Amino acid sequence: MLKLETVQSGYGNILAVKGISLEVNRGEIITLIGANGAGKSTTLLTISGIVRCRTGKILLNEEEIQALATDEIVKKGVVQVPEGRHIFPELTVQENLDMGAFLRNDTREVKKDLEYVFSLFPILAERRHQDGGTLSGGEQQMLSLSRALMARPKLLLLDEPSMGLAPLIIKQIFEIIKKINHDNGTTIFLVEQNAHQALQVANRGYVLENGKIATTGSAETLLNNPEVQKAYLGM
Ligand code: ATP
Repeated sequence: MLKLETVQSGYGNILAVKGISLEVNRGEIITLIGANGAGKSTTLLTISGIVRCRTGKILLNEEEIQALATDEIVKKGVVQVPEGRHIFPELTVQENLDMGAFLRNDTREVKKDLEYVFSLFPILAERRHQDGGTLSGGEQQMLSLSRALMARPKLLLLDEPSMGLAPLIIKQIFEIIKKINHDNGTTIFLVEQNAHQALQVANRGYVLENGKIATTGSAETLLNNPEVQKAYLGM
């Protein structure tokens, strides 16, 4: 579904992504793990067209998308949940969710999707008239994820959904990620520093080091790889 071919991108003189190639097949959960500053967020931002791909190709269902504007990429079903959540704090929960469906005009299906996200996160239904900014960190992550779901993504790009959250909430968020993939067949590309959690839910993974793919394999292979264990799993 998604293919990166020797993609380079960065900021000014800084090259953050240094020629990476990877593939995400339809229906998979793929994780990109790596340390702080390895280039994980930049990889996602490049797929979304927010940071420009300088060389290489990004293919979505065989079609090159690296030159498209972000809104065109979103219309093709690629939706990113940014790091640090970035909900609209002064809009209510309901209004935040409406923003996610902004590009859609299939009102009945939007209503169904709203019911679906409320079934995933009943707390958001309870707080639908409350301002987004009054929610806890975990609830804001739920809202950010739900807002992305309201765009009915085919490929969901998640940037560190576990960041800054308590262990119990992290567990809940990862269970929901698995459920979204299972219920709707949504393909998920998950960027995480929390390698342990990410590899529990992913089918396969890539390890990013200093802007380059250092190793790749099934989640099980990576979990049993001594170098991965030492560097990312604290073993
Ligand atoms: P983190 O887990 O901290 O988000 P990351 O693996 O996602 O790390 P990136 O955020 O992609 O890493 O950063 C890769 C490199 O690009 C780092 O050297 C970082 O300092 C640099 N960088 C990131 N954003 C910018 C920016 N807006 N301007 C300049 N340099 C940036």
